[in-house]
Amino acid sequence: MALIRNNALRPRILIVGGGYLGFVTAQNLLKDLGRGEATVTVVDPNPYLTYAPFLPEVAGGNIEPRHAVVPLRSHLRGAEVITGSVANINHDKKFVVIEQEGYEAFELDYDQIVLASGAVPRALPIPGLAEEGIGLKRIEEAIALRDHVLNRLAEASLMEDDAERRKALTFVFVGGGFAGIESLAELEDLARAAVAQYDTLTEADIRFVLVEALGRVMPEVGEAQARWVVDHLRERGVDVYLETFLEDCTDKHIKLSNGEEFDADLVVWNAGVKANPILIDSDLPLDERGRITVRADLRVENEEGVVDGAWAAGDNAAVPDLSGEGPGGFCVPNAQHAMRQAPVLAKNLLAAMRGETVFTQYFHKSLGAVAGMGLFKGVAQMGSVELRGPIAWALHRLYHGYAIPTCERSARVFGNWVINTVMGRDLTALKDVDVPRRAFVEAANSKPAPQKEKANA
Ligand SMILES: Cc1cc2nc3c(=O)[nH]c(=O)nc-3n(C[C@H](O)[C@H](O)[C@H](O)COP(=O)(O)OP(=O)(O)OC[C@H]3O[C@@H](n4cnc5c(N)ncnc54)[C@H](O)[C@@H]3O)c2cc1C
Repeated sequence: MALIRNNALRPRILIVGGGYLGFVTAQNLLKDLGRGEATVTVVDPNPYLTYAPFLPEVAGGNIEPRHAVVPLRSHLRGAEVITGSVANINHDKKFVVIEQEGYEAFELDYDQIVLASGAVPRALPIPGLAEEGIGLKRIEEAIALRDHVLNRLAEASLMEDDAERRKALTFVFVGGGFAGIESLAELEDLARAAVAQYDTLTEADIRFVLVEALGRVMPEVGEAQARWVVDHLRERGVDVYLETFLEDCTDKHIKLSNGEEFDADLVVWNAGVKANPILIDSDLPLDERGRITVRADLRVENEEGVVDGAWAAGDNAAVPDLSGEGPGGFCVPNAQHAMRQAPVLAKNLLAAMRGETVFTQYFHKSLGAVAGMGLFKGVAQMGSVELRGPIAWALHRLYHGYAIPTCERSARVFGNWVINTVMGRDLTALKDVDVPRRAFVEAANSKPAPQKEKANA
């Protein structure tokens, strides 16, 4: 296996993951590093940051997919960007193994490491889930969900068999947290807008189902807001099942813990996240939930004290919540924390490299939560202020429109919204995105045209 040594005289700061934490940390480091002081290397399997709070709006057709991601190379000028996955971390010897699909893995050494690999869906071993389910953590999933629902409507509009059509238009969402509610609500809004295009379909033909194990939704908002969200979804025709589990979805035949069974076309899993499993095989200290243990100054720590040259925050770390708000004393995994932890991490890392011994403690009191639930629909909570409907929706757009990293991306997103407001939502479904060669292969394999015999041969 090739080893890529940092031959330059300057040390390498390796950032594992170019998501929210990794991207903003790199931005801050690049801004504050002295000339030639260090090389900043960002490794991520994707060449872009995914702005996850916009995934539901991408699925709902309100934001163009490419505008909800931030390309690393053009927005982290001066950093070394490697498109690949860190498969193994050996912090004792200070190198990582990087895999790139279709190529030989290689080792990369470093002086300082920032663990910013985020979280992955916490999928449970439910029969059929691995085969039939889809999550909403990646831009590709948001694109696929939008196309899938729109294509199903087109197909169902020609179906004569009631059971077949009912199945094609039944969409199940598991998990009533923020991401789950936003995903369901945006797609439901999209489907209702699209159904008006068909004479053979009515809104009553579409069935959206929410399955939530707890007795309430959205733990991020108060009880009254959560109850309003459930009532609002039910008014929109969504079947909301609380205190209910998905027990089986083999062959898309849904079995719920309340005894109900039905066929569905789509199972979207949004029931929580867990720390990235790549950390399990590393020699870094983890808590019982697989998160890296860190101090409030974001230095990694084990039982013996600080682990030299290792830093972590965001969804893959157990960051102490000094505001006292977080469950179990730790920050909840969200972008609000990740984006604020990043500058603290960058500042402390630079301080450590420069031999300083005083570090800033991460402290942030939650600003609250805003969620979009389809056009002009939303819910928000900031302290004791509770907002619902169009005002909450506008707040959601304003907040996230500005929060997406870089002004260039903000401008594109606001541009999308203005165009959609003037021209209407784009209901185009793309076909065969995952099999782009299909038409060419069919043409290449088609029978040659019959040769005409020459008349006077
Ligand atoms: C649908 C949805 C909606 C959300 N809405 C909100 C919201 O409204 N408000 C809010 O505050 N939060 C929201 N969140 C949560 C928020 O997106 C995350 O908490 C935040 O992105 C965490 O930042 P992070 O940098 O820790 O992880 P991420 O942003 O997930 O970044 C992790 C990065 O690591 C990369 N990576 C993974 N494995 C490897 C590897 N082996 N090697 C190298 N790189 C790797 C990934 O590709 C990714 O780019 C939402 C999440 C989802 C899924």
